[in-house]
Amino acid sequence: MPSESTRTLKIVIVGGGVCGLACAIALNKQGLEVDIYEAAAKFGEIGAGIGIGGNTIAILKALGVYEDVLARGDGVNPERAQVGWVRFRYGADDHALVWDHSIGIGEKTFGVHRASFLDALVGHFDQTRAHFNKRCTAVIPLKSNPSRYEVTFADGTSVEADIVIGADGIKSTVRGAVTGKDPLENFSFSNTVAYRALVPTSAVKSAGTKIDYTEAGFLFLGKNKHVTTYPIRSGSLINIVAFVTDRTLPMGQATLPPGAPQVVPATTEELVAEYMDFGEDVRKLLSCVPNASRWNMFVVHPFLDSFVKGRVVLVGDSAHAMPVHLGAGAGQGLEDAYLLARLIGHPQTTADNLEDVLKIYDEVRRTRTQHIWHGSMRAGDIYEGAAEYGFSHDEMAKELRYWWDEVIGNHKLDGDTETAVGRLQERGIFAVE
Ligand SMILES: Cc1cc2nc3c(=O)[nH]c(=O)nc-3n(C[C@H](O)[C@H](O)[C@H](O)COP(=O)(O)OP(=O)(O)OC[C@H]3O[C@@H](n4cnc5c(N)ncnc54)[C@H](O)[C@@H]3O)c2cc1C
Repeated sequence: MPSESTRTLKIVIVGGGVCGLACAIALNKQGLEVDIYEAAAKFGEIGAGIGIGGNTIAILKALGVYEDVLARGDGVNPERAQVGWVRFRYGADDHALVWDHSIGIGEKTFGVHRASFLDALVGHFDQTRAHFNKRCTAVIPLKSNPSRYEVTFADGTSVEADIVIGADGIKSTVRGAVTGKDPLENFSFSNTVAYRALVPTSAVKSAGTKIDYTEAGFLFLGKNKHVTTYPIRSGSLINIVAFVTDRTLPMGQATLPPGAPQVVPATTEELVAEYMDFGEDVRKLLSCVPNASRWNMFVVHPFLDSFVKGRVVLVGDSAHAMPVHLGAGAGQGLEDAYLLARLIGHPQTTADNLEDVLKIYDEVRRTRTQHIWHGSMRAGDIYEGAAEYGFSHDEMAKELRYWWDEVIGNHKLDGDTETAVGRLQERGIFAVE
């Protein structure tokens, strides 16, 4: 149980996406009460899939929501998904198989519809503690007590809080309260655009494709472009993300300004034309996309020097939005949420040592997430022939195994907590039990 002094603290989470909700559920599990302030009129996600890796599944199980993700789900078949989850093929010609990557370490891996995932989380949070149409505009220390904060909203209202958790995504407002700068200073175009779509499997089959896109996830490799697919909703839908990267400029120097729209509609013709150098099967798949959307892919870059200032803490994309190429962003946000809740709820955390405890959260999570951020960027290079070894299968497989299996998948559920508590004990902040 948390100490009496942390149990009485008022905790506010800004942003009710997957990371904000997971954080709220994790804090509730620790016996702590929390309110979520969400800018939108209700909880919601875009119509797309999301890959759930072993590290994420372990957290969902610990939070007691895993069964609901499966049940609402998509009739996921994790048994089948475990083997050859990512099947690498060349994008060109007849899409020759490069190799099958089985991500089966520890837990199984699968894809779900984002809305199902979010719904499962929503079902575990007390709706009376969710406040909608609350777009945070600032987080300001109180003059009378700088370790308390006023969180202000666009509707002119405000709340006071002892701990403010910024889970407000890549364009985070709360980030500004941590960095002391305009939040968009750490928001950069990644030089990659992604066409995202969900397509009925029946339409894909009718188009005469030979590849069975329901049998696994696929990643079609190409020079400065690649296409990923995986089945969701029991294989009735295929989630497609098709990437194109401009490598003529270093990141941060591309012409797209920070204020450029994140998403614009795209036509089927535009999408298929982008992949004219790909083989027939993928072009047939892409021709089934009726309304693609083209996403300018932004990331948090340059990196933050800290995820924490005082008692204001960042989790998820607000802290470390990364390139999507390892499918790790939400999972990393859930790892943040899990550790943060374990630390705030730790019996030795008190109102007096809270800021030191949060600094350890920052140390542990910033190191890991920024490492994976680099891995995600590197994975994009690997898929698009920009690694020094081109498309060499052995090197590619070795490096991706390192990222997916050793770094991400093998991460122990309580590994971060053990590391953090060990450091708190070494520094005399926690007593050695
Ligand atoms: C193409 C693509 C594919 C991806 N695939 C995967 C994958 O397979 N696996 C994976 O783990 N990750 C994946 N990711 C990354 C993942 O989607 C993100 O890391 C994750 O959704 C971030 O969650 P979040 O809760 O931090 O932010 P968000 O989901 O952005 O949620 C932020 C919430 O805060 C609210 N908000 C924003 N501003 C304010 C404000 N000022 N006040 C109040 N509320 C506010 C928003 O309305 C929203 O509800 C992918 C990303 C992309 C773009």
